[in-house]
Amino acid sequence: PPGVSVISRYRPQIFKTACTSLYRLCLCVDPQLDSRSEGAVDSREKLLEFGFDYCYWSVDAEDPQYASQEEVFQDLGVSVLAGASEGYNVCLFAYGQTGSGKTYTMMGSQDSIGLTPRICEVSPLAAATRFTFLEIYNERVRDLLKLGGQKKRETLRVREHPEKGPYVQDLSQHVVTDYKQALDLLEEGVTNRITAATHNHEASSRSHAIFTIQYTQAILENNLPSEIVSKINLVDLAGSERADPHYCRDRLTEGSSINKSLVTLGIVISALAQNSQMSNSCQSINSMASEGEGSLGGSLNLSNSGRGGGGGRRHCFIPYRDSVLTWLLKDSLGGNSKTIMIATVSPSGSSYNETLSTLRYAAHAK
Ligand code: ADP
Ligand code: MG
Repeated sequence: PPGVSVISRYRPQIFKTACTSLYRLCLCVDPQLDSRSEGAVDSREKLLEFGFDYCYWSVDAEDPQYASQEEVFQDLGVSVLAGASEGYNVCLFAYGQTGSGKTYTMMGSQDSIGLTPRICEVSPLAAATRFTFLEIYNERVRDLLKLGGQKKRETLRVREHPEKGPYVQDLSQHVVTDYKQALDLLEEGVTNRITAATHNHEASSRSHAIFTIQYTQAILENNLPSEIVSKINLVDLAGSERADPHYCRDRLTEGSSINKSLVTLGIVISALAQNSQMSNSCQSINSMASEGEGSLGGSLNLSNSGRGGGGGRRHCFIPYRDSVLTWLLKDSLGGNSKTIMIATVSPSGSSYNETLSTLRYAAHAK
C-alpha cells in the first residue's frame, strides 16, 4: 500500500576498541520492548525515544538477530518489487552520515550483495524495462551511464513534461536482457561516481545517486489495451552531515556545503507524513461533504498546485520544487506511491551527535 515507512539499520562496530570506556555505547535499543522504537541517552542523560516501523538494531555480526543483506532484501526489496508490479511508483532511500552503511545497504559488496542488485536480479527484464542511473551533485544532474569516451561530464537539464511531469533531458535509458548486463550497468555507474569523487575528496559523500527501473505493463482497461508505467527509484543519498543545521550554520558562507536536496527531502517527507495522517482523519468528513455537493469526489489533492494561495489550511504545502532531488522524484513521493526510508546508523560513540540527528530526521518522516 502507498505511504511512508521508516526503518533504521545499525552497522556493526568496525573498530571494537571504539567501544571502550572512552566512548560509551551511545544507543540503547531495547530488544525486549519491540523492534519499533529505540532510545538514546542525550548528553544530559535524558532518555530520548524515537519510533520507527522497524529497527535492525543488532550491531554484532555473529548475533543471530543481526540482519543480513538477504534478510533486508526479503523484508524491503520484496515489497518494493510487489509495489511496482501492482503499479505503484516506489522510492527507497538510504539516509545517514558518511560511513554509516548507505552504500553497503543499497549496493553492497561483491561478497555481500545489497538491495539494488538483488532487486535487479528478480526484476522482469524485458524490452519494456528501462534502467537509468544519475547523480545529483550541487543541484546539478549528471548521467552515470553515458560516458562514451568523453571526459567532461555534462550537466543535464531538468525539464517538465505537461503530462508526465519532471524529467531529465537526454538522460540515457538502457534495456538489458539478463542479470549480468544489469550488474554491468550498475558497476559502470558506481565506478563513474567514484571517478568523479577523486577530483574532489568529498564528492561521493556530497552526491545523491539515483538508480531507476521503469516498468511498463500491458493491461486491459474497459476491454481496451492500455499500459501501466511504474518506477522503482533506489537512492543512495549524500552523507547526512550535509543536512545538519549546526553544520550548515557554521558554513553559511560556503553555499555549496549546504545540501539543499537533503534538507528539502526531509521537509517533503515529513509534510507528506503529516498530510497522510490528516487525510486518514479527514476522509470520512470529506466523503460526507462530497456526497452533499455531488461534484468534487472524496479524493484529496496532494499535488498542491498553488503555492501558499487559497489552498486552504487542511494540507501542508509540499515544496517539491525547492530541490532537484525532490522535483525529480515528485511522481514517486507521496500521492499514490510508496516511500521507504532506511536510516543507516553507526553505533560508535564518536558518532553520537550525528546519530541523534539522523534519528531525528528519520523519526520526523513518520
Ligand atoms: P556510507 O555509504 O554510508 O558512507 P558505507 O556503506 O560505505 O557507508 O559503509 C562504511 C563501511 O561499513 C564499509 O566498509 C561497509 O562495508 C561497512 N558496513 C556498513 N554497513 C554494514 C553492515 N550492515 N554490515 C557489515 N558492514 C557494514
Ligand atoms: Mg557511500
